Amino acid sequence: MTCLKESSVNILIQPTDSCNMDCSYCYKGDKPSNFMTEDLMLKILSDSISYNSNRNNHTLFIWHGGEPSILPTNFYQKAFDFTSNNFKGQKITHTIQTNGFRLREDLLDLCLQNNVSISISLDGPAHYHDRIRFTKDGKGTHDSIMKNIEKAKIKGIELGILMSITNDNLVYIKDMFNFCKQNGFSYGINPITSDLFSKHDGLEVSPEKYLLACIEVYDLWFNQKDDLIRVNPGFGITQLILSQNRISDCFLSENCQMTFISIDSKGNVYPCNRFDNNEQYKFGNINEQKLEEIMKSPIRLKLLKRSAEYISKCQNCRIRKYCNGGCMHHAISHFNELNAPDHLCDVYIGLIEHAMMQLNKSLTFN
Ligand code: SF4
Ligand code: SF4
Repeated sequence: MTCLKESSVNILIQPTDSCNMDCSYCYKGDKPSNFMTEDLMLKILSDSISYNSNRNNHTLFIWHGGEPSILPTNFYQKAFDFTSNNFKGQKITHTIQTNGFRLREDLLDLCLQNNVSISISLDGPAHYHDRIRFTKDGKGTHDSIMKNIEKAKIKGIELGILMSITNDNLVYIKDMFNFCKQNGFSYGINPITSDLFSKHDGLEVSPEKYLLACIEVYDLWFNQKDDLIRVNPGFGITQLILSQNRISDCFLSENCQMTFISIDSKGNVYPCNRFDNNEQYKFGNINEQKLEEIMKSPIRLKLLKRSAEYISKCQNCRIRKYCNGGCMHHAISHFNELNAPDHLCDVYIGLIEHAMMQLNKSLTFN
């Protein structure tokens, strides 16, 4: 009998597949113009909160896309009002993941009023960012995004930056850190890789080079003396080692399917947005079933059984208790197998061992 793990889930909502930019490495491919209806959005919110109220009663909504800011502010006003007016006593948090290119003043004000944090994709300084993250007519977006970040900062909105690491910008890793430090941005990095389903010829970063970049970022973060910024990988890995508690990074969780799902603009529920449009991994549709029922779908139950215990390479791994086999999408998309290790396995080993060595040194000599 399957043991269904009971914990609250974070809900990534994609209210549209459309985007107002055209970045070189976008994994969405040709974007259809689907927009979520307000009725569906309200059903997703109430079903999710009701599901989590039977678990640990905390719901995090991550508004993603496509580009979420292209929906009208009124759409989000209804969402935030609905959750704050109808579910008193439940802990509900919203965050928006955006390209930051067109952040309207009224949307920023609404975020401020509702304590909504914003994570913005920005690939460092303009000279690199504008070579890869551009408008549909090929113009750079850095200037507009920086102005919007400034507006959000002045308003006092909680901000984070997400950077994609490619084979090209690896050489700018230190510039990126300095740029963020000068601007007071906390940030995380994310590698662009090719897999069985998507190709990023010329941009993909190899695990070997990505490990070197991660170590460099870790050391830059670790050796800061003043005006501290939070950087990942750095803060998260250190927190994981020191506290032995799980961290928010999904790929280092025990099994991400205990705590994560993604819902697209048509109400289809997937393990995460990386599985979008892959019928084989669809859990169900929120228009047709209650979330409670969708979460018992055979495919979710199968994914929940993924464990480093069953992955031969992981069995004797020195850092298994931290990594747990890594990301299941990486395993499936690179090796076509659920119980395979993450293709970034050597990155996790190298980085975690490096972090342990740094911590050891600092405890010994300080
Ligand atoms: S499949 Fe990978 S990217 Fe998706 S939630 Fe799980 S660990 Fe994260
Ligand atoms: S680092 Fe590699 S071998 Fe170790 S648990 Fe993670 S995926 Fe498995």
